[in-house]
Amino acid sequence: MTSSVKQTQQFIDGQFTPGTSGKTFPNINPINGKLNSNICEASKADVNAAVAAAKAALTGPWGKMPVEARTNMLHGVAAEISRRFDDFLQAEIADTGKPTSIASHIDIPRGAANFKVFADVVKNVPTESFHLDTPDGRGALNYGVRVPKGVIGVISPWNLPLLLMTWKVGPALACGNTVVVKPSEETPSTATLLGEVMNTVGVPPGVYNVIHGFGPDSAGEWLTQNPDVNAITFTGETRTGEAIMKQAANGVRPVSFELGGKNAGVVFADADFEAAVDGISRAAFANSGQVCLGTERVFVERSIFDRFAQALKKKAEGFVFGDPMNPATTMGPLISKEHRDKVLGYFAAAKTQGATIIAGGGIPRVAAEYEGGHWVQPTIWTGLPQDSSVIREEIFGPCVHLEPFDAEEQAVNMANDTPYGLATTIWTTDLARAHRVAGRINVGITWINCWFLRDLRTSFGGQGLSGIGREGGVHSLEFYTELRNVCVKL
Ligand code: NAD
Repeated sequence: MTSSVKQTQQFIDGQFTPGTSGKTFPNINPINGKLNSNICEASKADVNAAVAAAKAALTGPWGKMPVEARTNMLHGVAAEISRRFDDFLQAEIADTGKPTSIASHIDIPRGAANFKVFADVVKNVPTESFHLDTPDGRGALNYGVRVPKGVIGVISPWNLPLLLMTWKVGPALACGNTVVVKPSEETPSTATLLGEVMNTVGVPPGVYNVIHGFGPDSAGEWLTQNPDVNAITFTGETRTGEAIMKQAANGVRPVSFELGGKNAGVVFADADFEAAVDGISRAAFANSGQVCLGTERVFVERSIFDRFAQALKKKAEGFVFGDPMNPATTMGPLISKEHRDKVLGYFAAAKTQGATIIAGGGIPRVAAEYEGGHWVQPTIWTGLPQDSSVIREEIFGPCVHLEPFDAEEQAVNMANDTPYGLATTIWTTDLARAHRVAGRINVGITWINCWFLRDLRTSFGGQGLSGIGREGGVHSLEFYTELRNVCVKL
């Protein structure tokens, strides 16, 4: 009897293939714990075949393609993602359980936009040119030429699967590289579907490859070990970044890292109160708190602290769980049972470390058909000491700790009391203070009176444990190309 369960395959050199390991692992739907598909696990030979295909494609039609044709092709990829919007939406929702209200407004449109934006950046950004005076009076002309880096290893996480993967693949291909993608083992589907899109649009075989598997001693590690991978771009946990950096040291290969965060929000008493409550609610709870830019520590000026806590509690208690395809659903489950166990571990730690629970703190009631899913309640705490593990470590769930402050200086110091440095959100109507505080919080991305307002032309990345390098707009060119200088004696 043949199984009706779908199989998710590798995409190597323009072909879908189960690969050579003969092994599969389950892709579980987070809303009910049921099996979505069996994922074919790549062997080391499959990973090496994908890298070899990517290397060969650099000197094939792709490598010879004029920039205009290449960037037009990427506009074609964006158009095809948009044409197959519903396929991508359903695949993303089945993998993540996130509500359609999020996936249809953020994940899928951004997946398409990442190809368009970087195609346009590459077509329109000039390189530098300098005239040099020489003793003989004839001078010399220097000019820069950007060339692709080669084969890019792309390793991506599960929280915004298509969006974060294409955030790397878009600029990598626009710059003329080829890629081998290792999507998260939790969310393999949209990366695989993108293989179909590449074939439909006519992207040459080997330019875009996908391998499936895990991290250590599996596809992720094997990809980083392959010496023909010329650079590695990774989004995920800080600890994983450390492991990948060690692998990249072999062959002195460059890395671009977008890692974890423990981001602070700062709300001053003069803020637009409703806007601040709404913004912090989104920053803390959107995508079930599984957003690297989210806010798990919020500092609120004491005079509005109690009112703010009550207003945020109302927001937390207003989320609707359930069928992700129902537009009324506003919160999905966590990605996996393991991740929920981790988040619930922090919920338990908050209790033992003396937190006052303002909202949530457990598992919500859901309809019987969703009881096997990985749900947690949006949770708000106060009263934890600064050295609590809940305050210091990234939880990556729908939870936030509120702390009152009395002075600007104190808020800045508390916000900076973390080894991470990804993002912050500041709420005030005092313009001078907004800029002053923005300049003092040690992060790569600062939002004032907003959160997650993204312009893809701007720099994106973190400092400290939150990452290495900046991507976005022209900054992506720094990583995905080599800049060569040519000096011509006139
Ligand atoms: P993760 O680090 O567990 O996994 C990410 C990817 O790395 C997966 O594809 C995984 O298989 C692979 N991997 C794991 N170990 C590896 C190894 N040793 N070698 C090579 N590959 C390996 O992260 P996750 O749990 O999927 O994602 C959540 C994390 O991602 C959070 O820490 C979050 O903050 C972070 N994140 C950061 C950003 C950002 O822009 N800074 C964006 C989204 C998520």
